[in-house]
Amino acid sequence: MEVDNKRKHSGSELEQEVLKKIRPQEPNYAYLETVVREKLDFDTEKICCITLSPLNVYCCLVCGHFYQGRHEKSPAFIHSINENHHVFLNLTSLKFYILPQNIQILHGNKVQLLNSIKFAVYPTYCLKDLESFPKHCFDLSNRVYLNGFIGFTNAATYAYAHSVLLVISHMVPLRDHFLLNHFDGQGEFIKRLSMCIKKIWSPKLFKPYLTVDNFVAYLKVKEGLNSNLIDPRFFLLWLFNKICLNSKQLKSILNQSCKGKVKIAEFGKELERSISVTSNVKIRPFWVLTLDLPEFSPFEDGNSVDNLPQIRITKLLTKFTNSKPTSTNTVFELTRLPQFLIFHFNRFDCSSEHPVKSRNQTLVEFSGELEILHVKYRLKANIIHVVIKSSCADEKTANGDERSHWVTQLYDEKSEKWIEVDGINTTERDGELLFLNETFMQVWEKQD
Ligand SMILES: [Zn+2]
Repeated sequence: MEVDNKRKHSGSELEQEVLKKIRPQEPNYAYLETVVREKLDFDTEKICCITLSPLNVYCCLVCGHFYQGRHEKSPAFIHSINENHHVFLNLTSLKFYILPQNIQILHGNKVQLLNSIKFAVYPTYCLKDLESFPKHCFDLSNRVYLNGFIGFTNAATYAYAHSVLLVISHMVPLRDHFLLNHFDGQGEFIKRLSMCIKKIWSPKLFKPYLTVDNFVAYLKVKEGLNSNLIDPRFFLLWLFNKICLNSKQLKSILNQSCKGKVKIAEFGKELERSISVTSNVKIRPFWVLTLDLPEFSPFEDGNSVDNLPQIRITKLLTKFTNSKPTSTNTVFELTRLPQFLIFHFNRFDCSSEHPVKSRNQTLVEFSGELEILHVKYRLKANIIHVVIKSSCADEKTANGDERSHWVTQLYDEKSEKWIEVDGINTTERDGELLFLNETFMQVWEKQD
């Protein structure tokens, strides 16, 4: 309380004036020792815990709680007196204050501790940073993690969202746009989405995993995300459409990077007489190409879960690469192969009473590379479906179906390694064995 003591002894008004000017630049740095970064969590909704207001909210950097205001009688002011907690951060302006004295810490950017807190609330990047990504980073407990390849809490409920957020944050043109720009003026949806992606790539995480419960809750309550029957494909398509509606720039990046086109030609009876007259030709754009698996039921004779059928991915693709009509007299032809080709393997019959239990468990064989119509692709991400195995009754859904869980496998080009993200855990995986899982979605990147 050096500043206050000085004030008591200061004689003239002039001196008081000088002190007033100096005060904001000389906060009591001893207070900074009371800051506990381990208690800070900026993934939660930024509202005052007393008034529930989202306006003018400060985080107490000693206990991590959010309080409104700075003026006398405000929740933050009262908290500082009652609890003897003195260092606060305004969550919108990212300015630091000492309360109740109401002194701004003006040179906070010279203090590493405060900088790291600012970065945790709002990570920022420059082009040069991105060149070194992904890189090994250390959290507050000195645990090593690879930025971009991080886990998430609450996977039992939100694993579908984790998979999709990881996958889109690994599409480099999209990632770079999100990391290098500010979206404060672009509406809440884009702002919140960009924050998730900025945090996924943060090299300065306090903990090596994130929580996006708050983001998904926001999507459900404010953006109309239907929480029934959600899987990663549904969520990805929903998110892509939402992005296109909210940002012209991002729409153009998505169209450039992810939109493919397929020509669908339906033939009439004439085909049988070898007169190839098409009766109907359509060009359909797509974000995700659905590949149908051959019919298989684990409950039929001769089929057991231990003896799952396998099919090569190239065989599934012949529908789109073979110019001969299918049994329904339709020819599918890929006319635009995007930079990121996203496949969906159709495992669930949504009309079934138990879509998970009765799903198609056929294994899809693939390697890390694929050639489609003379274009080379490299597998970047593999989202797999896992059934939560448990005898516990509440692990099943209300109608007795099994429960789905999603695990994301991501390729790190730098180390040429596969990393699996399951909940908060990340594990290295053998690329040769990835196909032994129930692949549900894949992202392939075009190679130059
Ligand atoms: Zn506090």
